[in-house]
Amino acid sequence: MKNIYGYTIEKLEQYFTNINDKKFRAIQIYEWLYKKRVTSFDSMNNIKKEIIEKLKKDFSISNIEIINKQTDKDVVKYLFKLEDNSKVEAVLMKHDYGNSLCVSSQVGCNMGCAFCESGRLKKVRNLEVHEMVLQILTVEKDLNIRVSHIVVMGIGEPFDNYDNLMDFLNIINAPKGIDIGARHITVSTCGIVPKIKKFAREQKQVNLAISLHAPNDKIRNKIMKINKVYTINEIIESVKEYIKLTNRRVTFEYIMLYNINDSIENAVELSKILKGINCYVNIIPYNETSNIEFKKSPKERIMAFYDILKKNNINVTIRKEFGSKVSAACGQLRSNYEEEN
Ligand code: SAH
Repeated sequence: MKNIYGYTIEKLEQYFTNINDKKFRAIQIYEWLYKKRVTSFDSMNNIKKEIIEKLKKDFSISNIEIINKQTDKDVVKYLFKLEDNSKVEAVLMKHDYGNSLCVSSQVGCNMGCAFCESGRLKKVRNLEVHEMVLQILTVEKDLNIRVSHIVVMGIGEPFDNYDNLMDFLNIINAPKGIDIGARHITVSTCGIVPKIKKFAREQKQVNLAISLHAPNDKIRNKIMKINKVYTINEIIESVKEYIKLTNRRVTFEYIMLYNINDSIENAVELSKILKGINCYVNIIPYNETSNIEFKKSPKERIMAFYDILKKNNINVTIRKEFGSKVSAACGQLRSNYEEEN
């Protein structure tokens, strides 16, 4: 049975048309689910009894379960259990500009980035649309807050689950749905070139971030398996195409791994390949994990790297460090949990 939280308005309208009911029911359902936040069909008291019974037969409205929660002052990390017992994470970060939630897109990940915890547990399956939507609703309910920003940077490669991702973005962006502005939503990819090109044609104002993490193929091949399929040059070309079609600035994420990609020379090379592109670089202090043999770069090295990019007129920011105390590194909570249980 399909979960109701996985339906875009268009798909719900189609459903009601198919059962010979009124299209506007879709909007009524959305009001109940996303504005009034009811969790049962019986609460939807402006809908006829017989339709309610039909809905109950055709859809599930079940939730996802919080099985672990860790709180630090400005970050709350969740571990959820899904219906088939799979586990995924989401991280809520409180910024001065609002509440940002980092959501997962798959159970595990197949991209195999050497530094990333998520890949240690191979992809089990894609997340269904409702399992992404419910990460937001569940956190909002648990903390009694509204999430203003979404980053699809949790476990998984969103572009490896493309169609579900698109429906998810549609639902959370819909004014009648969760109503999060497209410019407040960011999708992060390890660089699946055909999907970057496809995304460029979706006519969405959603932000795109690319996990680059290296200034050349030699280094990137060592830390990101996907680079053997799509090289840096191909990524840059697809990003240029994306910018041309969307007129939107792209973010390049760059994790600082000590003695791997964080030298002055690396910064110079990075500046060269990004020169003239409408982008900015987000330098990410590496979140060390107990399981993997990478070290974070010391502050001075990060600052020196930052200075070189600045000097070369590349827009650059250093990401605020969140939650190293609460295992907020991508996939950490889940893999620690799987090991203990
Ligand atoms: N698969 C997508 C989204 C998930 S990863 C992607 O690759 O972009 C989200 C971001 O967190 C990526 O930039 C990833 O490289 C980074 N990341 C993974 N492990 C990390 C760690 N231990 N510390 C800091 N960033 C990490």
